Amino acid sequence: MATSAPAGAASGRLDDLSKLVALCKRRGFIFPSAEIYGGFANTYDYGPLGTLLKNNVRDAWVRDNVQRRDDVELIDAALITAPKVWVASGHVAQFNDPLVQCLGECKNRYRADQIDATQCPNCGGPLSEPRMFNTMFKTQVGPVEDAENVAYLPPETAQGMFVNFANVATTMRRKLPFGIAQIRKSFRNEITPGNFVFRTLEFEQMEIEYFVEPGTDEQWFEEWVSARERWYLGLGIRPENVRRYEHPQEALAHYSKRTIDIEYHFPFGDGWGELEGIANRSKGPDGSSWDLWQHEQSSGERLSLYDEARKQHVRPAVVEPAAGLTRAALTFLIDAYEEQVLDADKQDVRTVLHLHPALAPYKVCVLPLTRNKPDLVRTARELYESLRRRWMVTFDSGSGIGKLYRRQDEIGTPYCVTVDFQSLDDQQVTIRDRDSMDQVRVPIAEVRDWLDERLDY
Ligand code: ATP
Repeated sequence: MATSAPAGAASGRLDDLSKLVALCKRRGFIFPSAEIYGGFANTYDYGPLGTLLKNNVRDAWVRDNVQRRDDVELIDAALITAPKVWVASGHVAQFNDPLVQCLGECKNRYRADQIDATQCPNCGGPLSEPRMFNTMFKTQVGPVEDAENVAYLPPETAQGMFVNFANVATTMRRKLPFGIAQIRKSFRNEITPGNFVFRTLEFEQMEIEYFVEPGTDEQWFEEWVSARERWYLGLGIRPENVRRYEHPQEALAHYSKRTIDIEYHFPFGDGWGELEGIANRSKGPDGSSWDLWQHEQSSGERLSLYDEARKQHVRPAVVEPAAGLTRAALTFLIDAYEEQVLDADKQDVRTVLHLHPALAPYKVCVLPLTRNKPDLVRTARELYESLRRRWMVTFDSGSGIGKLYRRQDEIGTPYCVTVDFQSLDDQQVTIRDRDSMDQVRVPIAEVRDWLDERLDY
């Protein structure tokens, strides 16, 4: 299905986030959190449509990275776990950002590595010396507030896969290569959250630890970078907005041999920003996984697989594609947004989200042309009941079909099915395509198959 504008139509893409933020609020995608209390800085709640969108991103990721592969298992590890995990992984000692603060009027805080200035960009005041700031959120387990009971909210999903490596390999009888995937919340006490849901304190990640024979990791790394790039393009992201960024050797994290970010051209800041990072986390001894090695040392448990041919245990190397679910949802919205001029003289402009059908909150809207004819409404209602057994479908009615279509365009519904007066005679309905706005007549009895063919992703 086409996700681009009809040929010849003038189009307007986003040049900042304000229109999208307004649409997200107006149409129930994303709300400022605790708005009745004036909100909470840079924190957002996902409304009905945002929740569906997020679920669809998650489903598409599971479908392509787990369901349609033979070699990846999905897990769901506890958020609050043994603090030793975060000591062994290096997070307690090293999950730091360099913080500088304005010593002038505004007292704003900045990440030293994200500003290129000696004075406060806001008020021009002097800046403090950088100091390291651990961005893990701390909490306590049990009623006593002391150092013994400190626990951490996870800043990434990866450690859940490393500590369960042996459990998964044994129970699922896995040999190398195989991956463990997980989607869950992560928390970072970010110094500079912002740009809507691009960088928030609480977000969701979709990560895979893909364990391979040491020595094959470089090739697997290349494969995963390509596979992950293809995933975004396959879901409609325009190629000109995507590029790769290779981290220089001297800037690599302590566990990484090589890292490439898939970047997207966002309508804020300098434009290019990280969408997903793919890291070769094989900086352990003999080119094995740095994290498995650390957890072996720290727990005393063996985290390797027995190789029958070599008659020895092998600690695998590992490649990690780490994506942000909430950041991806934002990216899909940005890329899909268009203000399309349909008639310049009449100033007729429609806002449309060209979301890939797999991601669209509703796949179909069923519309009776009038509310005032019971037979017609009943027919529409029956069709709606039948279609929603299969897909997330919405029902809308009221006067002015044009207005109703525009409402669905704005939330990205790929198809509108209209039951009109003629439908009662000829048992056919009109199906309108969101992107081309083309309309076709389809027998009611064939609507489900017609949609099935087009919603096959
Ligand atoms: P950044 O450089 O943007 O701080 P990072 O390199 O620390 O990100 P990773 O640790 O590689 O990020 O996390 C993997 C993915 O998780 C990122 O590519 C991004 O999509 C997402 N992510 C990371 N931090 C946040 C956040 N604070 N809010 C939303 N998504 C995030």
